[in-house]
Amino acid sequence: MNDRLQEVSLTTLSSETEFAEVSTPAAAEAPPATAAPAAAGSFKQAEKLAHENNKLHKRLCRLTGQAIGDYNMIEDGDKVMVCLSGGKDSYALLDILLTLRERAPINFDIIAVNLDQKQPNFPAHVLPEYLTRLGVPFHIENQDTYSIVTRVVPEGKTTCALCSRLRRGILYRVATELGATKVALGHHRDDILETFFLNMFFGGKLKGMPPKLQSDDGKQIVIRPLAYVKEADLTRYAEVKQFPIIPCDLCGSQENLQRKQIKGLMREWEKKFPGRVDNIFSALSTVVPSHLMDRDLFDFAGLKATGEADANGDIAFDEEPCATGTSGNTNSLGASQIISLFPSE
Ligand code: SF4
Repeated sequence: MNDRLQEVSLTTLSSETEFAEVSTPAAAEAPPATAAPAAAGSFKQAEKLAHENNKLHKRLCRLTGQAIGDYNMIEDGDKVMVCLSGGKDSYALLDILLTLRERAPINFDIIAVNLDQKQPNFPAHVLPEYLTRLGVPFHIENQDTYSIVTRVVPEGKTTCALCSRLRRGILYRVATELGATKVALGHHRDDILETFFLNMFFGGKLKGMPPKLQSDDGKQIVIRPLAYVKEADLTRYAEVKQFPIIPCDLCGSQENLQRKQIKGLMREWEKKFPGRVDNIFSALSTVVPSHLMDRDLFDFAGLKATGEADANGDIAFDEEPCATGTSGNTNSLGASQIISLFPSE
């Protein structure tokens, strides 16, 4: 089924009919035939921009459909609760899921949920107005977690850990009350990578942020349909769509410094070594437990020689030429061939 959803996102979304959907107003209006060359130039620019925006929308839909299909995130009859914070990522998530639902060969419902945490100056009218305009069913949950957090956490200490734990619990409860079968979050590829590095650098764990998981209360399946999408694309998409963004620093909390460091590191890699971040991301789904050290994932204690050559055996960590298999180079030979080069005396 989800292969079908993915397929639809890959095929029908490539239709040029997407053009108007993400066109900017400037791009949608053609200049009069008598316009001066300067006007013709700006028309061309607008056309180019509309084309870029169209490509961006297709890419976002394709990658989201692909992630949904790869991890079987949404099934026929699901009720997907989309958690909407008012940030660019969750707006994009809702927008893309609505597009994919129109084209999907399966039926699923979407309900948007916002948790109003009663932060000072939270513009409570923005999301209800936006969602009413879109015609999307929604629920606003009012819970004053802000007061709890500011009361419990000593001044000067970061409040995010308790705040997000409270938020998580509330959202899971709301999902159960609304009869949702999936809880969709707006985390993207960069969030997943940052979490992976945070856990590795500061937590001593090889652990990321999975595209699909069971909630800690065991009652919900949490999905992250934007798992393959780059943050830069979401930033641009939010500009194109002019989402009514609600600032995320209303609580007055400082950005996590460790996360900031990781973001900086990734930005630097992206600049100096293009492709490195993509490789790391792809490594997250190409794990070889027998070549790590976790005894729970691989039975090292019970490992015995089978007498059979194993193409994925110890050659996996040879130097680069081995991986590319240069013909005539001993690096490209398997273990048994190398041994045969040294006959026993
Ligand atoms: S930034 Fe503020 S609202 Fe967000 S998790 Fe931290 S304390 Fe909570």
